[in-house]
Amino acid sequence: MSAAPTAEEREAVDRFLGAPVAEEGASRAGNGHPGAGLRTAPGGYRRMTGRRHLLLPALHAVSDHVGWISRGALNYICERLIVPPAEAYGVASFYALLSLTERPRRVAHVCDDVVCRRRGGAGILASLRGRGDVHPSPCLGQCDRAPAAFIQRAGQPDLAVTGTDSAYVEECLDSEAPPPPAPPPLPQRGEAGLRLLRRVGTADPRSLEDYRRTGGYAALRRAIEIGPERVIEEVKVSGLRGRGGAAFPAGIKWEAVARSPGRPRYLICNADESEPGTFKDRVLMEGDPFALTESMTIAGLAVGAETGYLYIRAEYPLATERMEQAAAEARRAGLLGEDVAESGKTFDIEIRRGGGAYICGEETALMNSIEGKRGEPRNKPPFPTAEGLFGRPTVINNVETLLNVPDIVLLGGRAFAATGTPDSTGTKLFCLAGDVGRPGLYEVEFGETLGGLLEKAGGTAGGATAVLLGGAAGVFVGPEDFDMPLTFEGTRARGATLGSGVVCAFGPGTDFGDAARRIARFFRDESCGQCAPCRVGTVRQEELLERRLAGGEWEGELFSDVAQVMTDASICGLGHTASSAIRSATELGLLETGDG
Ligand code: SF4
Repeated sequence: MSAAPTAEEREAVDRFLGAPVAEEGASRAGNGHPGAGLRTAPGGYRRMTGRRHLLLPALHAVSDHVGWISRGALNYICERLIVPPAEAYGVASFYALLSLTERPRRVAHVCDDVVCRRRGGAGILASLRGRGDVHPSPCLGQCDRAPAAFIQRAGQPDLAVTGTDSAYVEECLDSEAPPPPAPPPLPQRGEAGLRLLRRVGTADPRSLEDYRRTGGYAALRRAIEIGPERVIEEVKVSGLRGRGGAAFPAGIKWEAVARSPGRPRYLICNADESEPGTFKDRVLMEGDPFALTESMTIAGLAVGAETGYLYIRAEYPLATERMEQAAAEARRAGLLGEDVAESGKTFDIEIRRGGGAYICGEETALMNSIEGKRGEPRNKPPFPTAEGLFGRPTVINNVETLLNVPDIVLLGGRAFAATGTPDSTGTKLFCLAGDVGRPGLYEVEFGETLGGLLEKAGGTAGGATAVLLGGAAGVFVGPEDFDMPLTFEGTRARGATLGSGVVCAFGPGTDFGDAARRIARFFRDESCGQCAPCRVGTVRQEELLERRLAGGEWEGELFSDVAQVMTDASICGLGHTASSAIRSATELGLLETGDG
């Protein structure tokens, strides 16, 4: 590639990577042709791969500054990081929020996913059709304040706007300083007995002092006192399971990494929550960021990791800002870095931003993304506990899972396990959205029934026809299942799943055909395309649905065949679950009714 960067692009890259040093220049000493040095890598493979992990942040640096990534900018990043241009192009073109073609300096992504499209998102998109700077988007994680939009602004911080309408979106695009969005509804603010949400909305999320005043960092002190082995033992005894959907016991993962001979070890906090209908980790990071810095530190010290990566979806600018501020503050206070809290141990947090790809919530795809590769899932085994990030032993947990850890350390595993049921211990966060009286994030003890939770959220006007439980990768359930206990075992027994805690209610008059079509389209778009069962199956599934919605017969046998192949032969969970919501909609007859 011979394209040269503009001064603005060069400045954006240099501001992030630092000015080029002479040694880097040596790699570009070729035959006089710009970029010729990229054909060889002086210093060998190690040098060529050594800075690859900076590729996505460098692409973000240009995009944030200029609004898009030109060939010249890409070429310059490749030279600086010694990455082959074809591979960098493959990475840059993987992410929905990065553009390789010139576009306006401000761009709005308006959510048209299942919740927002029914709450005005579809109307906003219809009324702004024709503007080249407005695009439909999958779920933006703001379902408690639908409809939502995400505004990328070159040279200014990105904005997440909520409860919006077309005038507000236009103002965000056309004005330097649009009015701020409404704060999130916190229906349980100040309620007694909360664990994970106890500080959200009641303590200042920017103040370490406030966090400490409300009990913060007592768990880290205790964890240092009792030592890593005891911490892991308590997490095992607590029965804590992952809250991201897979429900794997956290203590077993931690122990496997702590016992692994590989060095270095890594911790990753998965904050790339992109499952449609999910917004819990955003509320936690925005409302109680120090709780996550403390939880990650306890986990990192327990498994012997010195670096913890926090991977946040790019559509969460406020959560990212709060986490950056909290990590900086913790570092200043000696709670991160060398000699954490005078323990003699090192641990620090590095924050990485996603690029707008649902699949990066899959653990191995996320690791590839951090490593500067396309966010495509890896085959398992090897599992991340043995060969994870950079091929090293890695613990990966999501935000909600980790936030249980301070309570486990302070209460003890057995006392923690006294809440909930024997197989589903503790409390669980649920994202209530759609046709409920009071949408928002709710924390309840495992075992609450689905109907009880809907009541807590103000019920559904006219009674819910169905609930989408667990997100797009979950299932629709009807009123006959409202007595279902919300536990891992209780949902499994009914062929459902808690997934990421989505409870999206649909009232009378819902066009379920439209909701099913949106889900099918979502999986078609978000399939990374790496394996044929999912790449082809998600397209075939959408075609089958379209034929049915156009008035044709439901080709149930063919649908089952496609679904079975996706479930059996796909590499990752996206393919395994891509058909479950549509299958359940057909089983409940939602596409057959007058509502369909
Ligand atoms: Fe990619 Fe789908 Fe295969 Fe997962 S199942 S690796 S998303 S193509």
